[in-house]
Amino acid sequence: MTRKPPLGLKHNRGEPSVLNLRSDGKVALVTGASRGIGRGIATALAAAGATVICAARDLARLVELVAEIRAAGGQAHAHVVDVASRESIEALISSVIEAHGRIDVLVNNAGITRDNLLLRMKPAEWDDVIATNLTSVFISTQAVMKTMLKQRAGSIVNIGSVVGLTGNGGQANYAAAKAGLIGFSKSVAREVASRGIRVNVVTPGFIDTDMTSAMPEAAKQALLASVPLGRTGQPRDVAALVVYLASDVSAYITGQTISVDGGFHM
Ligand code: NAP
Repeated sequence: MTRKPPLGLKHNRGEPSVLNLRSDGKVALVTGASRGIGRGIATALAAAGATVICAARDLARLVELVAEIRAAGGQAHAHVVDVASRESIEALISSVIEAHGRIDVLVNNAGITRDNLLLRMKPAEWDDVIATNLTSVFISTQAVMKTMLKQRAGSIVNIGSVVGLTGNGGQANYAAAKAGLIGFSKSVAREVASRGIRVNVVTPGFIDTDMTSAMPEAAKQALLASVPLGRTGQPRDVAALVVYLASDVSAYITGQTISVDGGFHM
């Protein structure tokens, strides 16, 4: 009796198997790689074979991460960037393209919160969050686009938040930035799809990182009660989806917003 191959095992030569999530030979830039979700994404992309440029403000943490990746047999480089500065982002991307000649994956992950109720929100709290979480993505996407257009390939993954889908009291600035990312990503996805460039948004729910560690225990428990899977997420949960979106296996996916939130928002 001949057995049918399991779904995905049969594939044409030269086409990516659904089982191959590797990114060998690709150059990936991850912002906010020094801690939390970005660190998890950088580690996972390096494990998948990409050369990862780990960018953030804290050079010491980046150097430590790069050493860890190299010790595990991966390839990585540290680069300081302040995504609130146009000059800093443009310098980072020019240096990546100069050093590596290409850029295949851009993960816009760096982000901050400056929570306050609307009536108390200071202009600086609004401006800082919009600059770091949204304007930075406009700048970096523009800066990589010429190279990706020439390559006729590229995957851009923007890290949003479920808060951009649901809204959240005390986070009007953050929710506006994260919702803005979705409209931005869909628009750019439409503009560049014909050139083989994909743009998607990953919207994490409640993930264990420095960003959420300051939450009072009672608030954490209340939030957890509305997570059907009954636990907080880990950076690796988000990283797994980013590795998939970076790989050629996801070649038919663009303009999408995909949540990694334990079922919190459905
Ligand atoms: P985190 O632990 O606070 O880490 C934030 C990262 O962003 C750090 O690596 C930080 O590095 C970097 N960063 C902040 N401002 C920067 C700047 N101006 N320039 C360069 N890098 C900067 O936060 P996280 O939880 O990992 O969050 C990562 C992303 O996921 C953010 O976009 C966040 O909005 C999103 N998210 C998180 C959650 C969650 O539950 N944790 C949920 C939904 C969405 P340096 O300080 O070294 O610069």
